[in-house]
Order: sequence, then structure tokens, then C-alpha cells
Amino acid sequence: MTLQEELIAAIRNIPDYPKPGIMFRDITTLLGNPRAFRRAVDELVHPYAGTGIAQVVGIEARGFILGGAMAHQLSSGFIPIRKKGKLPRETVSIAYSLEYGVDEMEVHKDALKPGDKVILVDDLIATGGTAVAAANLIRQLGADIAAACFVIDLPELGGRAKLEALGVEVRTLVSYE
Ligand code: IMP
Repeated sequence: MTLQEELIAAIRNIPDYPKPGIMFRDITTLLGNPRAFRRAVDELVHPYAGTGIAQVVGIEARGFILGGAMAHQLSSGFIPIRKKGKLPRETVSIAYSLEYGVDEMEVHKDALKPGDKVILVDDLIATGGTAVAAANLIRQLGADIAAACFVIDLPELGGRAKLEALGVEVRTLVSYE
């Protein structure tokens, strides 16, 4: 099986979740599959091994699971971007649009230093609203985004193109039209 076939087989598709007409891509089955989990993490990080990545920055919550494993593999640190109100020290925050309304995410102000080379990670990129906000937050701290990594791309929703327009290299493993 190719890597793509193996990952697609490991991802569960839930029709009409969280609402009618939406096909939810559930990576919990991939995370629970030892071989698929390892292969996905190895594939996401391999171009960046030995390139001086200081931190992997993960988006709450599934970005934490992938990001922790990626950081271990790269011998880098891990930095969480969290929903507002969860981090105990001084933060920088950014508002971003959801389908209905807005939300806010934040990162500790002292988590990244200017010039730090980082990888941003989440499980999936759809419209890109979440990842673009996270990229802007990282850049506010002066860090340098080597790449944004996702297991799943939904290219029709345009997120990848938005990140690339900001000059961010995007790496994804499987895409669903
Ligand atoms: P975006 O901001 O529209 O790109 O949506 C991406 C965010 O929504 C990520 O944090 C994803 O974890 C989450 N998300 C959207 N659709 C799905 C899905 O089908 N499966 C899992 N997560 C999803």
C-alpha cells in the first residue's frame, strides 16, 4: 500500500457531522493505528530533519498530538497555540472567523524568539482561517515559519492557497476533493 492509501484507509469518514451535508474526516482512528501514526509523523517531518527547527507549534487540540510526536522526532521543542484563556502567563492573541462568529487563539509571549525557525501543525486545513491566524501569531513574535504541516488538505476550501499567498510553505499528506 502506498502511504496515501494507508492513511486514507486509516482515516474515518463521518457523514453529516457536525451537521447535515458535512463529511467529517476523523483522524482519531489514524492516531490509534500504530503504523499509520508513525508513517504520517515521519512523512510530515522528513524534509525538515537536520534543518535547525527550534520549535514545532501545534494548534489545539489535534495539532498537539501530531506536534508532540513531530517535535520528538526533530529533537525540537513544542509550543501550544491555545484557545483564549487557557495559558497562564502573558500572551499575544488573535481573533479569527469561524463559520458562525469569531474565536480567539493565543500563545505565550515568551514562547518564541525572533528568528526561531518553526513548523506549524494541525490535523487538517479547510478554509485556512485557523492556520492563517496561527501563522500571523507566530510572525507577531518574530519567528520564521519553515512550513505549515497538515495530514489532510481540503483544497476546494482554499486554505492551502491562502497560506502560500502569505509565503508559507505548506506540506500535506492526503487531500479530499
Ligand atoms: P479551517 O480554519 O476552515 O481551515 O478549519 C480547520 C480547523 O477545523 C482545524 O483546526 C481542524 O481540526 C478543524 N476541522 C475542520 N474540518 C474538519 C474535519 O473534517 N475533521 C477534523 N477537523 C476538522
